[in-house]
Amino acid sequence: MRENLKNLCAYVPEASLDEVKKKYDLKKVYRLSANENPYGTSKKVEEAVKNWNFSESNRYPDGYAQKLRTAIAKHIGCKESQLILGVGLDEIIAILSRTFLDQGDEVIVSDPTFSEYELNALIEGAVVKHAKCSEETGKTDFEAMLSEMTDKTKMIWICNPNNPTGALNPVEEIDAFLSKVPKDVIVLIDEAYIEFADGNQTAIGLLSKYDNAAVMRTFSKIYGLANYRVGYIVMSSEPGNVLQTVRCPYNLNSLSQTAALAALSDQKFVEKCAGKNAREREKLEKFFEENDIFYFKSQANFVFFKFEDAEKLAEYLLKHGYQVRRGLRKDWLRVTIGKKKENAELMRLILQYHNEKRKQ
Ligand SMILES: *Cc1c(COP(=O)(O)O)cnc(C)c1O
Repeated sequence: MRENLKNLCAYVPEASLDEVKKKYDLKKVYRLSANENPYGTSKKVEEAVKNWNFSESNRYPDGYAQKLRTAIAKHIGCKESQLILGVGLDEIIAILSRTFLDQGDEVIVSDPTFSEYELNALIEGAVVKHAKCSEETGKTDFEAMLSEMTDKTKMIWICNPNNPTGALNPVEEIDAFLSKVPKDVIVLIDEAYIEFADGNQTAIGLLSKYDNAAVMRTFSKIYGLANYRVGYIVMSSEPGNVLQTVRCPYNLNSLSQTAALAALSDQKFVEKCAGKNAREREKLEKFFEENDIFYFKSQANFVFFKFEDAEKLAEYLLKHGYQVRRGLRKDWLRVTIGKKKENAELMRLILQYHNEKRKQ
């Protein structure tokens, strides 16, 4: 085994719903811990998947995912050759790390942010530097990132909106940051949640200006396809070719390609989900404000909030069938914005916990 792998811990995925139900003796579990789409998946996907030609099962899938590639390129306005498709962004993050990182290279990430960036960097033997997010807003602090730069810096991760803080940095800030980053440092902008932000906030427009920048998107979140594992990166063609070489040739199966193509064709569904999410987000944030619970203003489908005994609250919520994400930062919890009824019940449970505690 490689020396640098010996002390790494595996990413801990969500416990399965069945597991949680059994452990807590629950009839139903509301999973507000994985940022999945509570409104399900577009009907168009259901149709496409049901009509999928089973007799293709013995054939390898289209390794270039041509139909899906054409549709994505059209949707975001890029060349087909700029796209690399992956088995979720998880695979893209792994491919990027494998492609660019040598042992001892430095990678800069926000703190806190999505843990996969760091894990994959460590697997390649790179060194990870942390730039603290703003304590007031949860936003990526670009000054802090710049101060972590050395001549060994190879890769910088910007998650926007950031998971778990939910905070969004405007494109102009990213632009200004990129103008200060040397051209031989790759800057990755993970837009897994960008469709939940108000207005068009994507950084894709910056790619024509900066060859060393790339933008990543996934079908797992607003498109409601987490189970199918489809994500992609848009980058300038030259490094893109190398990523195509590193990528496994048949990574995306046909059923996933079919599902993603159908999902992309239903932008009405996307808009509807974004609208409902924004309304529910507002209610949840108002609730935190009214009850003096500190939180970061979110532009995603989750809210990160501070709570004195977060672990106990999470346990209390789970006993009542509501699973939220813990373990991301001491005394903080991340809650995925669910459907109207789920959120109302969640807020009621938080208040109830608050009141019961006060009585003790
Ligand atoms: C969920 C998530 C991903 C992973 O997406 P997949 O496409 O499901 O692998 C990537 N980045 C961030 C920030 C996420 O929260």
